Amino acid sequence: MSKKDGISRRDLFRIGGAGAATAFGTALTRSAQAKPKAGAGDDALPQVPRRVLGKTKQTIPILLFGAAVHLDKRFDPKLAEALRFGVNYIDAADCYGGGSCELAVAKFHGRAKVREQLWITSKSDEHDPEGFEKTLATSLRKLDTNYVDMYYLHGLRDADYLNPKLARKVEELKKQGKMRYFGFSCHNSNVVELMNKAAKLPWIDSIMFRYNFRQYGNKQLNRAIDACAKSDIGLIAMKTQGSESSFRDAWKKFESDGKWTKHQAVLKAVWADKRITAAVSAMDNLEKLRQNVAAAIDKHELSQVEWDAIERYAADTRHLSCDGCDEICSSALNAPAQIGDTMRYLMYHDVYDEPEKAKTLFRKLPLAAQNIADVDFSAAEAACPYGVSLASHMKRAAKILA
Ligand code: SF4
Repeated sequence: MSKKDGISRRDLFRIGGAGAATAFGTALTRSAQAKPKAGAGDDALPQVPRRVLGKTKQTIPILLFGAAVHLDKRFDPKLAEALRFGVNYIDAADCYGGGSCELAVAKFHGRAKVREQLWITSKSDEHDPEGFEKTLATSLRKLDTNYVDMYYLHGLRDADYLNPKLARKVEELKKQGKMRYFGFSCHNSNVVELMNKAAKLPWIDSIMFRYNFRQYGNKQLNRAIDACAKSDIGLIAMKTQGSESSFRDAWKKFESDGKWTKHQAVLKAVWADKRITAAVSAMDNLEKLRQNVAAAIDKHELSQVEWDAIERYAADTRHLSCDGCDEICSSALNAPAQIGDTMRYLMYHDVYDEPEKAKTLFRKLPLAAQNIADVDFSAAEAACPYGVSLASHMKRAAKILA
């Protein structure tokens, strides 16, 4: 890459390497010169581009810091490093880090004195108005702030929660200044249904949804994205890696093909879709953070060769990835297993290196859904249109998650 195209990846890593040691100091120094949110980064460094998040009319970076990772509770250097490159959006949740995520974010902004420069999103696992309000109050206390920039219903499944009672509560909480914007995150089989409903509700500001390179040909999802974009709902992509359960080495072949790692290439593929404002990424170490920042800052679009490689990779690994569409395979199963959730927890275990989170979540499933060791999954496996080796994955889940 020439200099006129922007900073080279080598430059970026060099800057980043120096920055890692000084991040805390830099953040503290910057605290004396609070800036508006839109320009939160270090002026001397290339900044991650920003896009407008739908009807909020606010700009956010195209790369968001997914805080479902281990954060240092005293002061997390990854958050400081991200901020230097303009990644000032932290995607938190009441349950991340076993409930410690919001405390770590509070410690970070408190010590660096950067609350006003951050966009903090958090989420409630309670979806009824009373539970939602209660969780928001806890989040504000733990985050040590008077307001969150966005508050989501976390992992929404039941579209009935999007009702007038909740709309009134959202309006009330906004008026009280406790949250600026509202929306929900979703990743289960009814993402399309939820998005289509939200597109008709003016009080939904933003949706964070499962979206990755495996779904580009999904016409229903594309129509739902169009409907939301037309209603000016700010769209954020999550689970962009479309990761496969197990076979984590399957993508290594892909990496040697092109300029980008698979991780970077699939992020760039999401950013190529201008209906999507940003992609959230769980950046659990500085190396991944710098790689993602490098991909975001680089102005080159993916070449046709790289798009072809992504398509080839998607096709070659399709049978390794579960979409959570368990209304398809569960109907062929005579047992109360929760296939989509269990496969997702396996992904946390195998791909995201989060074995404890995977086990904790699995153990929160109803007891009957945890008893899968002796279940015959062969009919469900036969029903999966993508040829996922469901039976062997479930057998493994019973062993490592139970
Ligand atoms: S196993 Fe197949 S059908 Fe079942 S949830 Fe996963 S992708 Fe969907």
